[in-house]
Parts: sequence; C-alpha cells; structure tokens
Amino acid sequence: MKKYISFLIKPASSLCNMRCRYCFYYDVSDHRDVKSFGIMNEETMEALIDKALGLGNDFDISFHFQGGEPTVAGLSFFEKFVAYVQKNKTNQTIHYALQTNATLLDEKWADFFYKHHFLIGVSLDGYHEIHNYFRKDHEYKDTYKKIMDSIQLLKNKRVDFNILTVLTNTLAKHPQKLFSFYKKNNLKFIQFIPCIPGLEENKNEYSLSPRMFASFYKSFFDLWKKELYQGNYISVSLFDNVISLFERGIAHQCGLLGRCSPHLVIESQGDVFPCDFYVLDKYNCGNIVKEDLMDIISSEQMSHFLKEERRYCDCCRTCLFEKMCHKNCKRLNIAYYDDHYCGYRDFLEYAYNDIVYISQRMK
Ligand code: SF4
Ligand code: SF4
Ligand code: SF4
Repeated sequence: MKKYISFLIKPASSLCNMRCRYCFYYDVSDHRDVKSFGIMNEETMEALIDKALGLGNDFDISFHFQGGEPTVAGLSFFEKFVAYVQKNKTNQTIHYALQTNATLLDEKWADFFYKHHFLIGVSLDGYHEIHNYFRKDHEYKDTYKKIMDSIQLLKNKRVDFNILTVLTNTLAKHPQKLFSFYKKNNLKFIQFIPCIPGLEENKNEYSLSPRMFASFYKSFFDLWKKELYQGNYISVSLFDNVISLFERGIAHQCGLLGRCSPHLVIESQGDVFPCDFYVLDKYNCGNIVKEDLMDIISSEQMSHFLKEERRYCDCCRTCLFEKMCHKNCKRLNIAYYDDHYCGYRDFLEYAYNDIVYISQRMK
C-alpha cells in the first residue's frame, strides 16, 4: 500500500477578490507580520513539487489548493503546476483538489478541472438571502447568481464538486429552509464549516454558538434521516464522519478524534505551517524551498503545535463520547462547547440511537 501525504497550498496567499463578512483568513493574516505574500512564483512551485515527488515512488500525494482565493493566481499557474508534476512524476499517485469562491470560473477553468480530475469545493452559504448577505464581492455586490451559474457550469462539464457552507449563527436558525434549498438544487455533497470568532475573541455577531450548533444539527439530522430512510442519501460531512466513527473508529475530518494531525500548509513564498487555522508567524515550521521536508515535519514548532492543550468543558468529565472525541479540534471547538455546555454532546445524545442503527447497517 502506498504512503499518503497531502499539501495544502496557498498559491495566492491571502489575496481574494471577495469581501465575506466573516473571513477567517483575513483575521489570521492580520495577526502576522506580512499579511500577504502575493502569488507563488515558479521557483517555489517547482521546489514544492520536487520535494513532494522526492519522497519516493511509493507515495500517494494530494495537492489541495486553497486561499485566500486560489484562482486569483490565474489558470496559467495551475497549468504550469500540473505540467511540471506530469513531467517529473514517476510512480506516485497524484490527486488534486481546489477550494474556491467560484466567482472567477469559466469554461476554460472547468475544462481544465475535468481533464485533470480536480475535486472542487465551492463556497455557497445556502439560499440567496443568506449567501448574498455574507458573501460579497470586492465592490460589496451580491455573488449568489454568479456562484449558481458556476455550479451549473461544473455540472455541465462533469467536474466533481462539493459544497462548503459556512454555518453562521444566522444560517443555523433555518435548517428546514436550508435543507429544502439543497434538495431543490440537487446538491448532495455538503460540508459545513462552523463560523468561528477571531483569534482574540470568544464570539462575535456571526460566530456559531454551541447551543445553535446543537439546535441546527438536531433539526438538520431529522430532515437528513428522513431522506436517507427513503433511499435518498445526501452526504453531510459531520454525519458521515460520526457514522464512520461509530462504525470503524475512523474520522476523515481533522480534529474529530481530538488530536491535531500535522498538515503541511504552504504559503505562497514557501513557508510551511501545521494547520490552516494557524498560519501565524509563531507556528512557522520552515521553508519548503530552503529546507528538507522531513526536517520541517519534525521541527520543534510542528511538535509544539501538535502537543498544545485543548480548552476544557465541564461536560467532558461525564461524557459518554469522551474516548471518541477528546475535546475535538482545538480551533473549531469554540463552536462546539463553552465552559459548561457542549452542543456536540447534546447532538450526539439526541441522534445516538439512529447513528448506531445506521452505522450497524453500513457494516
Ligand atoms: S472567499 Fe474565502 S478567502 Fe475570500 S473573503 Fe470570502 S471567506 Fe475570505
Ligand atoms: S487545529 Fe483542528 S484542524 Fe488544525 S490540525 Fe488541529 S485538529 Fe486539525
Ligand atoms: S462533552 Fe463535548 S467536547 Fe467533551 S468529550 Fe463530550 S462531546 Fe467531546
């Protein structure tokens, strides 16, 4: 079996053509000396690919592109990237994925994604009132129509894609409306990202509170379950992961097992960080152009990051799910629990019988 490694690359650093109200990467980049490192140059791109391929023939390598907005780097950046990989790869298996706000996509992008089997994550915050409220372009204009056109384009061109929805406290009040929207538009692969407060805040007007987390997921689960029992499966990341945890003890979403895994997040000038939530100067693990990849992975900053303690919640002491959860992801858990109440536990207790039933039927 091949060894697996994944790189999360920021070809356009924190640059973005949108101005979403809750953008977490604006907050992260505001907390470092240099806010944006601009577009990745060819020397850095080639060094990164050389280091990845240099790991050996027996590797399964994923290149995930993220931002800011990665498409701001231009299609030619990605064409060069893929061409360089093709030219230099030997027996490695390569996967590509790209997370986008989908405002810059056109036929050429879609053809390219299809040809090179990119999996695309499209950011869409559900129906138009909510999406347009949160996700504005750089002139503070609405983007809903453009995104829905891009989704149609990806469908027409048979590009694999899923939907990433930022779950704000505002959106979490409308599980039924959101579910109906996905169903009506035949959107069947959904990932929710809880809207989290800034690094120095406990909450803000949009961030998802633990009580809204539980209330949203309970209602959404009931709607999802009803569809499932009628033979209509919709992939919802949290449900898929929890079922997989109950079934096999495995979760694909980082943090659900309560420990950090080392990620290799590559900023556009080659600096490497351990997690997309922590692209901060103090977590800089080295530079992919100048340093050996194994030295970066075993750096002090990386091991310090992996060992950092999680926040505590009183509920953990008596929680049935403690052995599976271990206080979850240290950054996202602010949306899961506060000092005395855990919304994730509340949801798991509510859905427990169904999750056990579904996970046993999947065995
Ligand atoms: S599209 Fe993404 S990176 Fe750009 S402003 Fe919105 S949340 Fe931030
Ligand atoms: S902070 Fe969360 S997402 Fe980042 S490595 Fe840790 S568990 Fe994973
Ligand atoms: S109380 Fe919540 S955070 Fe603590 S172990 Fe249980 S589910 Fe996890």
